[in-house]
Amino acid sequence: MLQNDADIIAGIDVEKVRSDFPLLTRKIYGKPLVYFDNAATSQKPTAVLDALEDYYRKYNANVHRGVHSLSQEATEAYEGARRKVAAYINAAYDHEIIFTRGTTESINLVAATFARKFLKEGDVVLISAMEHHSNIVPWQLVCEEKNAKLEVIAINEHGELLMDDFEKKLTDKVKFVSITYVSNSLGTINPVQEIIKRAHAKNIPVLIDAAQAVVHLPIDVQKLDADFLAFSSHKIYGPTGFGILYGKEEWLNKLPPYQGGGEMIKTVTFEKTIYNDLPYKFEAGTPDIAGAIGLGAAIDYINSHGKDNIFKAEEELLEYAMDALTSVKGLRIVGPLTNRVGSISFLLEGFHPFDVGEILDKQGIAVRTGHHCTQPVMDFFCIPGTVRASLSFYNTREEIDKLVKGLEKARMMLG
Ligand code: PMP
Repeated sequence: MLQNDADIIAGIDVEKVRSDFPLLTRKIYGKPLVYFDNAATSQKPTAVLDALEDYYRKYNANVHRGVHSLSQEATEAYEGARRKVAAYINAAYDHEIIFTRGTTESINLVAATFARKFLKEGDVVLISAMEHHSNIVPWQLVCEEKNAKLEVIAINEHGELLMDDFEKKLTDKVKFVSITYVSNSLGTINPVQEIIKRAHAKNIPVLIDAAQAVVHLPIDVQKLDADFLAFSSHKIYGPTGFGILYGKEEWLNKLPPYQGGGEMIKTVTFEKTIYNDLPYKFEAGTPDIAGAIGLGAAIDYINSHGKDNIFKAEEELLEYAMDALTSVKGLRIVGPLTNRVGSISFLLEGFHPFDVGEILDKQGIAVRTGHHCTQPVMDFFCIPGTVRASLSFYNTREEIDKLVKGLEKARMMLG
């Protein structure tokens, strides 16, 4: 198992990549940090940290409002970030990219505005049993308000979506489908293209929660034909508190504004307000300018390595990790063995995930324990939570070996 290879995976020189991420040199309890909590948030490369600092040090100004040079520089960087995001997910137009606080706000925006205009008593919103709380609760809120019903596509014991159940539940009453591309707690990759196709055959719009997918899979919103797609900057090496809502132009034009305030208006009188054009109609108030610039820098960083190279390296590391983990005595993977990403949930039979996580932490290994904001998934498996090791392309095989050793130590100590 122990293997000290040079760690050039799929053309990615992992040691060189690691030197781009200053935090990875930290020690925890005197041991080199092994960071396996990437699904919660990724670490940030120097290029992103520099971009954030440069903005505040060199051209901090509000956007869109000033004729002065600083404001123009800030606006150019901010709008430049929008163009980078649009290109990254292949949106047809830059104005289909709405800047938000993250996946959570993006989904709340769609749920609130769609429901206000289109949802009626007796209608159904369809989600899946593996959604993050942020793709459950916003829909519960609007369904309650409108006397609509939230229905849930079932999953099987491998954590895979039951497409037969989807077909059965896709009735004429369904007015919206909102589904995750990749499960954060199970690692499952869902057949979202097929889901969108079947929903569109009945003229039902679909939102894709791409919070986990965006960092592991190529996203092409036009190929997917997604009506809406949401993700967060902090999971793809950008800053926290910033994210994206992609919406098809036609849908964004149909929806009413989410919040009122500056920036989202063209003219205001006490009698009537004319709303701004896309994307500003959905961007009330002074935005997170640094957040946008930071995300733009993160996308540049990804592109500098080539996203296909990154995804391939992650796949190889995942394969190594699955082999290594399944060889650990008493370890049970919660989630599928194939067609998945490197967000690996597991249990050491007989031990509470929290205890395992604590022992790993003492060895410098950061994993997440708990329900991962997917309590219904834990209820389905009748477990209190899992240990989740989530990989990034800056992780190494050697780190996976350390995790395996750490788990063996945990079993000895707890047993
Ligand atoms: N959906 C999924 C699948 C996620 O993994 C997460 C973050 N864990 C979210 C939504 C929410 O993202 P954020 O907290 O950045 O809004």
